[in-house]
Amino acid sequence: MSEQTRVLVTGAGGFIGSHLVTYLKDKGYWVRGVDIKEPEFSASTADEFMLLDLRRWENCLKATEGIEEVYALAADMGGMGFISANHALILHNNSLINIHTLDAARENGVKRYLYTSSACIYPEHLQETADVVPLKEEDAYPAYPQDAYGWEKLVTERLCTHYREDYGLDTRIVRFHNIFGEEGTWTGGREKAPAAMCRKAAIAKLTGDHSIDIWGDGEQTRSFCYITDCVEGIYRLMRSDFVEPLNLGQDRMVTINELADMAAASAGIEIKKNHIDGPQGVRGRNSDNTKLREVLGWEPQVSLEDGLKKTYDWIEQQVIAANKESGAVAS
Ligand code: NAD
Repeated sequence: MSEQTRVLVTGAGGFIGSHLVTYLKDKGYWVRGVDIKEPEFSASTADEFMLLDLRRWENCLKATEGIEEVYALAADMGGMGFISANHALILHNNSLINIHTLDAARENGVKRYLYTSSACIYPEHLQETADVVPLKEEDAYPAYPQDAYGWEKLVTERLCTHYREDYGLDTRIVRFHNIFGEEGTWTGGREKAPAAMCRKAAIAKLTGDHSIDIWGDGEQTRSFCYITDCVEGIYRLMRSDFVEPLNLGQDRMVTINELADMAAASAGIEIKKNHIDGPQGVRGRNSDNTKLREVLGWEPQVSLEDGLKKTYDWIEQQVIAANKESGAVAS
């Protein structure tokens, strides 16, 4: 049955999208990938890959033509550095992408549509301490997300709900909590904390200079979820009949200092941490997985240490390759 199902993954040139394409191909789906760029680190495994700017309605119509199910991952996004410095760009681009993709899906008779939201939709005032209470799905309201990125995600969640209620498009909404792994952005300003820590540890190992910069005091907390668990969770949610937003993440919280130490352990070195000024986001954030377990009968399986070691090994190879190309180790 699944052999005949034609699915679209938007953002298929990105980190989670490219992994999801491979996962869906392995399940036997016919997969169309769409993005403004090809995947950076390996060729897409999609049956068809279209380069399209999804801010434009007519491109969204092309992308969703003949498609039964959409996994909507395309977004202009990055780590804290990018998200906290590009509010207008993020709100503008992501609003256009999501309004047009969702509406084109309706126009083309798509049956099911999964939207990838974020833990960034949760109110700031629930995340002011490092030993924060894990966030439940219903904590989203009354709404007060931190950045334009979170506001746009929350509005698109509502849009999905209303398209389901008013037009019968069967939507699913997943809220990711810090996904990481191989073939994610690891340098250039859009990378997230796990990739940044692995890169810094790899450079420290290669240069012999073991001091590492950390934004803030490093006591801010997060949970981190490995990519294979992420794509498994996305698929399980898509196949479920659960239509409300659902957290998808690990519920083990660590400080950024601890994350840096784990990256250093993966590199087999000890590091000295320099705490410098920089964007830190909320003080603490963790996922409450009660509903995830209830709805999917499953939760993420890969430990942070195991996932980070695999990620570190891949990033170390990237750093070595970049070093060979430029003749110097990039920072
Ligand atoms: P990513 O940046 O690697 O992938 C997003 C992709 O969207 C990129 O390849 C980008 O080129 C593409 N894109 C941007 N503008 C586009 C446009 N106008 N038209 C077509 N494609 C466009 O990010 P990711 O980590 O793979 O995230 C995937 C989704 O999950 C995003 O919606 C993101 O907001 C969400 N999310 C991710 C995380 C995380 O920890 N990685 C956390 C919360 C939510």
